Amino acid sequence: MHEETTAGRREGVRGESFTLEDLPGAVTDPEICGAYAADASGLSRVPDAVVRPQSEDEVRELLRVCSARGIAVTPQGLRSSTTGASVPARGIVVSLERMARVLSIDPQRRVVVAEPGIVASEFKARVREAGLFYPVDPTSEAECTLGGTVACNASGSRTYRYGPTRGYVRALRVVLADGSVREVRRISSDKNSTGYAGLQNPVDIWIGSEGTLGVVTQVELDLLLLPPGVFGALAFFRDWRAAVGFVQAADASRRVSTASGKAGLRPRCLELFDHGSLDLVRPDAGGLRIPAAAGAAVFFEEEVSTEESLSAMERWYAAIEEAEGLADDTVVAQSEAEQAELKRLRHALPAGMNERGARAVSNGGRKVSTDFAVPLDKLPQMMEEAYTIVREIFGGFHVAYGHAGNGHPHFNLLAEDAAGLTKAREAARRMAERALDLGGTMAAEHGIGKVKSALYRRLYPVWLVEASLGIKRALDPQGILSPGNIFGEDEI
Ligand SMILES: Cc1cc2nc3c(=O)[nH]c(=O)nc-3n(C[C@H](O)[C@H](O)[C@H](O)COP(=O)(O)OP(=O)(O)OC[C@H]3O[C@@H](n4cnc5c(N)ncnc54)[C@H](O)[C@@H]3O)c2cc1C
Repeated sequence: MHEETTAGRREGVRGESFTLEDLPGAVTDPEICGAYAADASGLSRVPDAVVRPQSEDEVRELLRVCSARGIAVTPQGLRSSTTGASVPARGIVVSLERMARVLSIDPQRRVVVAEPGIVASEFKARVREAGLFYPVDPTSEAECTLGGTVACNASGSRTYRYGPTRGYVRALRVVLADGSVREVRRISSDKNSTGYAGLQNPVDIWIGSEGTLGVVTQVELDLLLLPPGVFGALAFFRDWRAAVGFVQAADASRRVSTASGKAGLRPRCLELFDHGSLDLVRPDAGGLRIPAAAGAAVFFEEEVSTEESLSAMERWYAAIEEAEGLADDTVVAQSEAEQAELKRLRHALPAGMNERGARAVSNGGRKVSTDFAVPLDKLPQMMEEAYTIVREIFGGFHVAYGHAGNGHPHFNLLAEDAAGLTKAREAARRMAERALDLGGTMAAEHGIGKVKSALYRRLYPVWLVEASLGIKRALDPQGILSPGNIFGEDEI
C-alpha cells in the first residue's frame, strides 16, 4: 500500500511523502517496538511504530492519518492472544494500555463503563469493590485487557454457568478505520425481526472481531450481584474417561436441580486436567498433593452460602464416589487463599505450555493448541478420537485440559521443530474437522487470529467467509485494520 523510499520516508496512497515519525504519538525506537512484537502464539513481527493513545480523540486522529496514508494498524491489549491476533502482520501497533480507566459504575442499574486497556482482573476487582460481580474469567485475566476480551469474545471456566463476554456487552464505542466513531448499543426489546439474525444487534459484529473492524475505545457492561459464597475443589480420577463421566454426571445433576429447584450439584465450572496436565503442574503444586494413582482431575466450584456448603460438599463427595473417583484425595478450597491456589495451578497449565512453545520457536517449532468444542454428550467420543489423532499423526508431547463442562478441552501439542510443527498442525486440523462433524466449533474462545486463518477458510463454506469479508470491506475498505486476522491475507 505504501512503499519505503529513502531514509525511512514512505509514499502514501496519494503519492505524498511522509515518515512514520510524522504519525501522531508514534514511537519508532527499535527496542520499544520490539516489546510489542510477539503474543502468546509464538509468532512475532516488530511493528514499524507503536502508538499509545490516552484518549479516543487520539485514536481517531491516528486512524484518520493512517487511513489517508494506507498504513496498516493492529490494535493491542496485552498480547495474550494465542492465535497471533495481536501480532502486526505489517504496519504499526496501537496499544490501548494507556486507556485504562473505569469511567462509571451504577450499582442500582448494575452497569459499568470502562476504557478498553484496563487489565481484566483489575477491572473485576474494581467492580467487586462496588459490591458487584463480573463473571467472565479467562485464565489469563491478570495478563489481558477488557478490550482484548471483547475483541475475542473471551470466556473462561465460569462460562459454563455464566456464558461468554458477549452476553454482558450492552454498548461499545468503536473508532472505525477512517477515524469516525460509532456508538453501538444492544437492542434490548424482547422481540426483534429486523433482517438477518447475525446483524439484528449490530454490537455483536464487533464482539469477537479481533481488531479487524475498528478500535474499541469504550465498553459498557452488565454486572451481577456477588454470589453468597463459593467453594472450589479438585477431584482426582484414574483416567480421563472417568473424569469426563463425572463431568457429564455433574452437568446432568445441575440441569435437573435447576429445572426442579431440588437439591443437586450446581457447579459454576467443570475443568479437566488429563494425565499429561497433572504431570506438567506437579512441580508447581506446592503443598497441594496430587496422588500418584491419579490419571486425571476435575476442578469444580459451586456458589453456596457457608451454611449450605457442608451439605453441598456431601453431594459432591457422593458424586465423586459414584464416578469411581479417588474421593479421599479430593482437595477442597474454602478460603479465598485456598481457591487462589487452585486457580494458580489451573493457570500454570497454559502458561507452562506457552513457555515451552516459545522456547521451541528458534528451532522452527511452537505450541499448537486446539480450541474446538463439541456438545457435551459427544465429548467422550471426541476425546477418544483426538487422542488417537494426536498419537498417530503427531506423536510428541501433548496435554489436554480445560473447559470440559462446555465440551471444550484444549489439546496442546508441543512441536519441538519444523517437522513436528507440520505434524502438529495436521493433527489440529483433523481434530477441528471432527469437532465440526460432531456439531461443534473449531474456535470456541481464542478466535482465529493468524494461526487458524487457513483452517477457517478451509473448513467453513465459501459463502460464509465471503459474507464476513463483505462486512469487513464495508467497514474497512482499504483493509488497514489487523491485516491477516481471521481471513489470513498476510502470513507473518
Ligand atoms: C495463559 C493464557 C491463558 C488463556 N486463557 C484464556 C481463557 O481461559 N479464555 C479465553 O477466552 N482466552 C484465554 N486466553 C487468550 C487471551 O488471553 C484472550 O484472547 C484475551 O481476550 C486477549 O486479550 P489481550 O488484552 O491480551 O488482547 P491482545 O492479545 O492484545 O489482542 C487480541 C485481539 O484483540 C484485538 N484487540 C485488543 N484490544 C482491542 C481494542 N481495544 N479494540 C479492538 N481490538 C482489540 C487485537 O487486535 C487482537 O486481534 C489465554 C491466554 C493465555 C496466554
